[in-house]
Amino acid sequence: MSNIHDVIVIGAGPAGYTACLYSSRANLSVLCFEGWQPGGQLTTTTVIENYPGFEKGIDGKELMKEMRAQAAVFGTEYISKDVTRVNFATTPKKVYVGEEEYEAKVVIIATGAKPRKLGLESEERLWARGVSSCATCDGFFFREKKVAVIGGGDSAMEEANFLTKFASKVYLVHRREEFRASKIMLDRVRANEKIEILTNKGVEEVLGEQKVTGLKLKDTVSGETSEVELDGMFLAIGHVPVTQLFEEINKDENGYLIHNENTMTNIPGVFAAGDCVDHRYRQAITAAAMGCQASIDAEKWLETQ
Ligand code: NAP
Repeated sequence: MSNIHDVIVIGAGPAGYTACLYSSRANLSVLCFEGWQPGGQLTTTTVIENYPGFEKGIDGKELMKEMRAQAAVFGTEYISKDVTRVNFATTPKKVYVGEEEYEAKVVIIATGAKPRKLGLESEERLWARGVSSCATCDGFFFREKKVAVIGGGDSAMEEANFLTKFASKVYLVHRREEFRASKIMLDRVRANEKIEILTNKGVEEVLGEQKVTGLKLKDTVSGETSEVELDGMFLAIGHVPVTQLFEEINKDENGYLIHNENTMTNIPGVFAAGDCVDHRYRQAITAAAMGCQASIDAEKWLETQ
């Protein structure tokens, strides 16, 4: 049996699943590498209130489950493994999982982005011992405890609010006075009595030996340091694109893949969509839309070959 698919999709967030849906529905054979966390970042969020079509919002995991199943209806095959290597210089293009080799006429990259870290030694040492980047995953462990959320964007607001379901107190630590977060999200945080907002504060060190016991903070204006006792730190300071595998593809200075107006990268037949490309909108709906575009562009490109 030929192992050559028409389309390989790498990544399984809204961009990847939408690319699978459109490509399968165009009667192309589609193989999707889902990686270790099928569904991508949305599976670590709570209710999605701004994906059109759901009056009461929809749980992130549920939305991704539905997207996955919908693409499967039209024939998408899934492999729940991480791609370890690619070779796009050949025809067909090659994608590897360890020694296993897979081939396709076109590849759509939709590998998304992962949470950014502060870059502190103490953060690494205490990772999963009180340091986390996913309140939905780990919030439960902090019942009646004190935690901090780091960041000033919508993610930080969402995480802080969510954590008040468990924690006795939540500090929202932000390095500036102004917030990137939307007004509605910020207002919810301000109205939540369990949340104390600490502005102009950077994290100097996560304190603790075996588990987190506190944070050493530095005032970004006065330079003064202070310590706060707590049990957990949740990072919500943005994301970095997952693009390290793709050495042959042109990237911007922050590592985001560059594609042209037809969503094709500098390599003919290799397309890119979603958060691995987009540092501006970064929404489920825009990622899904770009997955659709990449699929249509890939189909048109295939017709020309
Ligand atoms: P973001 O908007 O980029 O915000 C990142 C925050 O982290 C900023 O406040 C930034 O501070 C801070 N930060 C970055 N690097 C830092 C560092 N090294 N140390 C300390 N602080 C640092 O990211 P996001 O909150 O993840 O949101 C991403 C996108 O998803 C946005 O478009 C957002 O609207 C969307 N989103 C929407 C929802 C929703 O509507 N339900 C929920 C979550 C996210 P500065 O401001 O000083 O740069």
